[in-house]
Amino acid sequence: MTSGPGRQTSPLHVAIVGSGPAAFYAAGQLLAEPGVSATIDMFERLPTPWGLVRSGVAPDHPRIKSVSRVFEQTAARPGFRFHGNVEIGIDVSAERLAAAYHAVIYAVGAAADRPLEVPGEHLPGSHPAAEFVGWYNGHPDHAERSFDLSHRRAVVIGNGNVALDVARMLAVAPKQLAVTDTADHALVALHESAIEEIVVLGRRGPAQAAFTAAELSELAACPDVDVVIHPADAAVDQPSGDGAGARANVELVQELALRPPTGARRRVVLRFLASPQAILGENRVDGLRIAHNRLVRSRSGALTAHETARTEDLETGLVLRSIGYRGTPIPGVPFDVARGTIANDGGRVRGVVGAYTAGWIKRGASGIIGTNKRCARETVAALLEDHAAGCLAQPSVDPAELLAALGETVDYDGWLAIDEHERARGRQQGRPRVKLVRRRDLLDRARRCNEGRSAA
Ligand code: NAP
Repeated sequence: MTSGPGRQTSPLHVAIVGSGPAAFYAAGQLLAEPGVSATIDMFERLPTPWGLVRSGVAPDHPRIKSVSRVFEQTAARPGFRFHGNVEIGIDVSAERLAAAYHAVIYAVGAAADRPLEVPGEHLPGSHPAAEFVGWYNGHPDHAERSFDLSHRRAVVIGNGNVALDVARMLAVAPKQLAVTDTADHALVALHESAIEEIVVLGRRGPAQAAFTAAELSELAACPDVDVVIHPADAAVDQPSGDGAGARANVELVQELALRPPTGARRRVVLRFLASPQAILGENRVDGLRIAHNRLVRSRSGALTAHETARTEDLETGLVLRSIGYRGTPIPGVPFDVARGTIANDGGRVRGVVGAYTAGWIKRGASGIIGTNKRCARETVAALLEDHAAGCLAQPSVDPAELLAALGETVDYDGWLAIDEHERARGRQQGRPRVKLVRRRDLLDRARRCNEGRSAA
């Protein structure tokens, strides 16, 4: 709700948990609200802000990452403070946070993988895509991981945009990645990769694929990569009511199926109507059993994949499970287990006055970065409506007291020091940045900045 012209409301101290797009859009909207004198304390579990913009968006998508400039403008506004390296629910309880602010917005994203629930899912060599994405993006939780790229074939399960990102990262020539902010450890490993073929497995048909035609076109345009689709896989024998996106995907898939392979260095093979039945191997992955599916229209009208008796074994040493993300509960915050989100109604956390939520943890892991702007707007409108109606409790704890009790934190200047350091290293190599990937190194860099300020 926007306050009327000239109308002044009382100060509004808001804590935002998380620092990805939904968190920054919500902060920007609150700080820009006319007639509201808002202050924001943003808490982030990592020493660095920006959430998926830093650690989810593929490194070869710098244009998408450039949305961080909008977030930088929000961070520069009076009333904004950043507190990195603070995990709400661990370092500070949700109850204590609630007591120190008029309102708390949870915008923590959805970082956990959905379970595939097939035998062999947890064999070494089978990983959630989230780990692989975090690894090539230098997320401190995943920087120490290793992925066995010594086999000829990798299989990516799922048909979303993340599956295509992962397939593209495995397929593109190292020299294309060398000019990106891909983490150094991943650059080295991908440079040495023996993978020649990446199979992307969709359980339904091309008309039901969750990826966008834009992402598939980009993959098909990668130099020295063939996208291979068997004509039978491109055939669509069931109409789908999924609209323009589905039509665009079907047209593109059918066009690609007609392209003769060029003998490129690597191939991405798109398979449809194929479900993983078991990940095979004794001590580590050595194959994947897939079942061929047919589409069946359910009572609700949706087309669902049903396994037939026909199966096939694919030899592979690496399986990446890219079947969507789900949120994880924060102690003290109501959670909807079935949806994998914070329990909420239009952004108001169910049953907790003064608690709100935005982004993937509010609505589930779907949509592009811009979707979070609309999503945050709904949440901020609910918060401002409750504020104007006098429904929010006055804080009973001074935020300064809460902040003083925290361990080592990174403020916005600390982040700027990390940012400048990474960009300076990047300039030397013709890359946007060279990321620090270990929590300790990030904290050290921020601390040096603090010490410099204290000494000045
Ligand atoms: P997603 O779009 O929800 O796709 C998940 C895929 O996994 C679907 O194809 C789904 O098939 C499949 N799947 C689910 N359970 C499965 C199972 N048991 N066996 C086999 N397949 C299964 O998820 P996502 O790819 O993680 O993407 C998350 C969001 O981020 C999406 O909104 C995406 O568009 C967005 N994103 C955007 C970009 C970009 O714009 N460049 C890049 C990355 C991500 P069914 O459809 O049959 O369920």
